[in-house]
Amino acid sequence: MDRRTPTVTRFAPSPNGRLHLGHALSAIVAHDLAKAAGGRFLLRIEDIDGPRSRPELADEFRRDLEWLGLEWEEVPAQSTRLASYAAADETLKARGLLYPCTCTRKEIEDAGAVEGSDGPIYPGTCKRRPPDPARPTAWRLDADKALAETGPLVWEDALAGAQAADLSGLGDVVLVRKDLPASYHLAVTLDDAADGVTLVTRGADLFAASHVHRTLQALLGLPVPRWHHHPLLLGEDGEKLAKRRGSPALAERREGGEDGRMLAAQLRLQHFRLGT
Ligand code: GLU
Ligand code: ZN
Repeated sequence: MDRRTPTVTRFAPSPNGRLHLGHALSAIVAHDLAKAAGGRFLLRIEDIDGPRSRPELADEFRRDLEWLGLEWEEVPAQSTRLASYAAADETLKARGLLYPCTCTRKEIEDAGAVEGSDGPIYPGTCKRRPPDPARPTAWRLDADKALAETGPLVWEDALAGAQAADLSGLGDVVLVRKDLPASYHLAVTLDDAADGVTLVTRGADLFAASHVHRTLQALLGLPVPRWHHHPLLLGEDGEKLAKRRGSPALAERREGGEDGRMLAAQLRLQHFRLGT
């Protein structure tokens, strides 16, 4: 990386549920890496999950970050960027890199999809049949064609080191959802580029996604950041912390009078012990 390029990190929560400790750690890691380098820390609300998105949570997120003692610059929410996603869709479709898929979740399961690094790998059903225009259609990246265009690619994780981009763990991912001109993969890749993010910081649970994002950067001629996938906080049962397993929301702790800066200090310490 050019040493003169300032470090820009971001925290990109989806307002589908309240923030919990794992989110706090992600935000703190991204914040601290930027601040230590004299760079910028951005907040981007990823509010494109349709009915699951609850925009009123964005305000709660801002209060949570403030409570943790973080400073950030907010960039536009994903819901304001749909036109840029649609433009990328058109480019990728015109180049024959996407194919339409009308499968339901059930059909994919019934087709005997094998488990990949992040759920079932799409078995390619729609690649082999003519599209049915009467059914809701998503668009998938044709991983074979993508690889043929990009050739071998490398990306760099601050902790795990150099990685050869490998789409086999995720398969032909959805880039354009049935209800939206993007999926997580496409939106986040375009937005990180548009926001000038130089260091993509997030939990290790999203490690596999970076193979896809690196490929999209090559296909769309976007700048290539570095990545920092931090280890996940584990609950006492050794399971990933998540709201559904009873970890209290940050907002509950905040409203209960807990000291957010103290909590942030504890998380920094735990993170240090986890080995970064
Ligand atoms: N909106 C994503 C989430 O909340 C963030 C993903 C990312 O940091 O790339 O899981
Ligand atoms: Zn399909």
